[in-house]
Amino acid sequence: LLDALTDQAAVAIERIQLVDDVERAKLAAEADRLRSALLTSISHDLKTPLAAILGAAGMLREPPEGLAKDDETELLGTVVDESERLNRFIANLLDMTRIESGATAPNAGLHFVGDIVGTALQRTLKITAGHRVAVDIPADLPMITVDPVLFEQVLFNLIDNAAKYAPEGTTIGLKGWADSSSVVLQVIDEEPGIPAGDLERVFDSFYRVRKVDQVRAGTGLGLSICRGFVEAMGGTIMAANRQERTGAVFTIRMPTPKQTPDLGELK
Ligand code: ADP
Repeated sequence: LLDALTDQAAVAIERIQLVDDVERAKLAAEADRLRSALLTSISHDLKTPLAAILGAAGMLREPPEGLAKDDETELLGTVVDESERLNRFIANLLDMTRIESGATAPNAGLHFVGDIVGTALQRTLKITAGHRVAVDIPADLPMITVDPVLFEQVLFNLIDNAAKYAPEGTTIGLKGWADSSSVVLQVIDEEPGIPAGDLERVFDSFYRVRKVDQVRAGTGLGLSICRGFVEAMGGTIMAANRQERTGAVFTIRMPTPKQTPDLGELK
């Protein structure tokens, strides 16, 4: 019997090791995929704007004959826009590093979600200029424990995406409410929505739903940064599509701090 058991145990251990090896190989493959995605993205997202800046700056330094004032303004515009793009990419990379090193949420405190939404909207004024923005967040929501800088960055990324992917003239909605254990915040847009099979994958680094999305100013890092930050602050974030019409809905849930019972209520 002992021999039989030992044999069985040996087989079981072998299986576990096999699963372990498969798991490890999977992790290694994932790390490899990320590394090569990072390299591709860095060479594309850094080199493309840099090439545009160098081109425009070179032309401004030695203007070809007949370069009009308007052309000059356009070239300067390219320098500024492309520099902003570089800036955004580097900020995203720094955010990723912060998540990976676990150095997130060190400045958590109690905040009203409406206040942070207000500052995020302030920062995205230029980006959302072509859209309508509808805010429905009651002022009396319970406070939540967050790092306001990180939470604002999450909202910025979501609003930026809504403005980037939903056509101009459509409405970007921000809706908040509280249930018994959390404050819920949604960023809602109209069109194009996200295919059902991609709803989880959009949170992967460098994942893009449509090939054309690559051409836009994004880095493919925004949503994975959102998830990293929200989870580091104890919350959850998920993507869905609207029920009754097209459009994406991103839902953040932040737990409300446990209330100490109000003695008045005990009477
Ligand atoms: P990106 O820099 O490409 O915007 P994100 O991580 O922010 O990277 O988003 C990943 C992908 O998810 C986008 O490239 C896009 O395909 C899709 N996506 C994100 N937000 C939306 C949205 N509001 N509507 C439709 N698709 C979206």
